[in-house]
Amino acid sequence: MSIDAMVKRIEELKAEKDAVILSHNYQLPEVQRIADFVGDSLELAQKARDVSQSVIVFCGVHFMAETAALLSPEKTVLLPVMEAGCPMADMIDAPGLASMRAAHPDALVVCYVNSTAQVKAMSDVCCTSANAHGVVARIDPDSEVIFVPDRYLGMQVEKRTGRSLIKWPGYCPTHAKLVVEHVERARREHPGAPVIVHPESRPDVCEAADAVLSTGGMCRFARETSAPVVIVGTEVGLIDRLERENPAKKFVPLDERATCPNMKKTRLENVMAALETRHGRVTIAEPIASQARRAVEEMFASGRIRKAKY
Ligand code: SF4
Repeated sequence: MSIDAMVKRIEELKAEKDAVILSHNYQLPEVQRIADFVGDSLELAQKARDVSQSVIVFCGVHFMAETAALLSPEKTVLLPVMEAGCPMADMIDAPGLASMRAAHPDALVVCYVNSTAQVKAMSDVCCTSANAHGVVARIDPDSEVIFVPDRYLGMQVEKRTGRSLIKWPGYCPTHAKLVVEHVERARREHPGAPVIVHPESRPDVCEAADAVLSTGGMCRFARETSAPVVIVGTEVGLIDRLERENPAKKFVPLDERATCPNMKKTRLENVMAALETRHGRVTIAEPIASQARRAVEEMFASGRIRKAKY
């Protein structure tokens, strides 16, 4: 089937099945282009909650579809490729977090949304790369804080808040591919171009960059900068969105090998099949769902964060 025929069939199926397609920024360009909304995991989870359609095809990785399902329990959330997981989310599991909590019984647990529903359910509050420092700042300064699973994001939070966190040693294998030599090479090849990197990057890469920004922050920076060329240190899929939104500017990946294989597993064929058969439904059993939802909703709240009753 040609790409055009697939795109046409997907459009028909969307109307037939009362469905909407959400795509993460790191998906293949052809998937981003057929999506109704493109964004980061949190923007998409919020979008999933707000859309009127009853079926959501979530083009991303498993934890993202879980978060969408948590926030929209009455809707059908489909993940077109069930094997699309996140290695960083899988670096921590419930027993691992339980032993960390047992070693620090008074600590509050802050959990990056890039985590499984089970790990979220055992946390006091979730955070994103955009709001992690703000979430930690809402915790009593005398309280110990466990931060999971991304130690590099945790280090950036320590830097911004001046607090010391007990960090799980997880990391994103895709962002960890970025090294200082890439920043040096980019500066040689594109003199004067600002270098922006995601906080999942190594600390020395963050130090060498001009700005450390969440995905949403990168999109804003791209819109507002007067620089004609910007060096972007994150998963290369974001380049497609930046170019679409800012056609007069040039975006150069810090390293074009920074691709997430899991994010590239979803193809148009998978989206079409998910719509046709409604396979790949993501559901979360109780009580995990309620506990994980509480941690996500606490992130959206304001005021002091208290220890939850697990
Ligand atoms: S880019 Fe990193 S954090 Fe995102 S899904 Fe891939 S492995 Fe996970």
